[in-house]
Amino acid sequence: MAKVYYDDSVEKNELEGKTIAIVGYGSQGHAHAQNLRDNGNQVVIGIREGKSAAAARKDGFDVLSVADATKAADVVMILAPDEIQGALYENEIAPNLEAGNSLAFAHGFNIHFDVINPPKDVDVFLVAPKGPGHLVRRTFVEGFAVPALYGVYQDATGHAEATALSYAKGIGATRVGVLQTTFKEETETDLFGEQAVLCGGLTSMIQAGFETLVEAGYQKELAYFEVCHEMKLIVDLIYEGGMENMRHSISNTAEFGDYVSGPRVITAETKKHMKEVLTDIQNGKFAQSFIDDNKAGFKNFYKMREEEAGHPMEKVGADLRKMMPFVQQKK
Ligand code: NDP
Ligand code: MG
Ligand code: MG
Repeated sequence: MAKVYYDDSVEKNELEGKTIAIVGYGSQGHAHAQNLRDNGNQVVIGIREGKSAAAARKDGFDVLSVADATKAADVVMILAPDEIQGALYENEIAPNLEAGNSLAFAHGFNIHFDVINPPKDVDVFLVAPKGPGHLVRRTFVEGFAVPALYGVYQDATGHAEATALSYAKGIGATRVGVLQTTFKEETETDLFGEQAVLCGGLTSMIQAGFETLVEAGYQKELAYFEVCHEMKLIVDLIYEGGMENMRHSISNTAEFGDYVSGPRVITAETKKHMKEVLTDIQNGKFAQSFIDDNKAGFKNFYKMREEEAGHPMEKVGADLRKMMPFVQQKK
């Protein structure tokens, strides 16, 4: 059973009297920075000039270069995109880290795959909210939070774990629960979840279902409703009370079909492929392909993005959502 920490498990705020540099002010960055500040912590933003820098200034933060923010800080949380963290660390962060500082992450990728090799005299930990940054902020304002994972990779000061937990409390996560993990476990499970199930598995399954109906001659709008739009309603029920709760709400016809047809779609063969995906994550092959493509200017990445954006389902969906004012796209 995983160990779970709540507000009252963190008595002393290890961040008191310290300065926290949040590097990057995107999805996670803006949420961590604002939640930490609302909880009374001292925060500066380290970022290049641009859109995010302007947003951080507008939100009332001191905005510095990444190098200057690192100099000013005791705790440096890197919330820039994973693929640029290596260069950013090398050029701006490493030269300005001091013994006893903390280097923190919201995803273990760069430490686990040896892209970033911190010196022995700093603490290295991760605090990874299990949800998008905008929910990390919204739920905090509403009085609760997104649960998070924390893990310590290197404890130079003897306080790494306490600092990580104080950080988790600072962003609000201990209100609902923080689970202990390692960089290896967080990285591998996070990548597997998003590739095999949450993002890759889901989008491929929705598209295959859409194509099956449209190729059989059914109207594309109906196909969209049946295999995509209703997904949220079903997932909400699972989120609230598990599979049983969802199956309680659907018709008996739907439930019967669930049992007899689900295993025909996701087969032992599918699970074999999931294991291959996991193997490529564990042996570093996926990480290497991501890093290599980034070095080549993300040629493959942008090509795949463009192809997927052109899928016929996207056009149908955009038209249908215009007819449903309650489905508002959040930018
Ligand atoms: P975003 O892409 O939303 O934001 C990245 C930020 O970094 C932007 O503010 C961007 O600014 C800034 N940035 C980009 N390049 C540089 C640079 N060269 N120097 C300084 N700042 C730069 O990232 P996310 O919040 O999605 O991801 C951050 C980390 O959080 C990653 O490690 C990710 O794996 C992790 N994570 C993300 C989750 C999510 O839901 N998004 C969930 C859990 C963890 P600009 O506007 O100038 O480009
Ligand atoms: Mg992820
Ligand atoms: Mg139906």
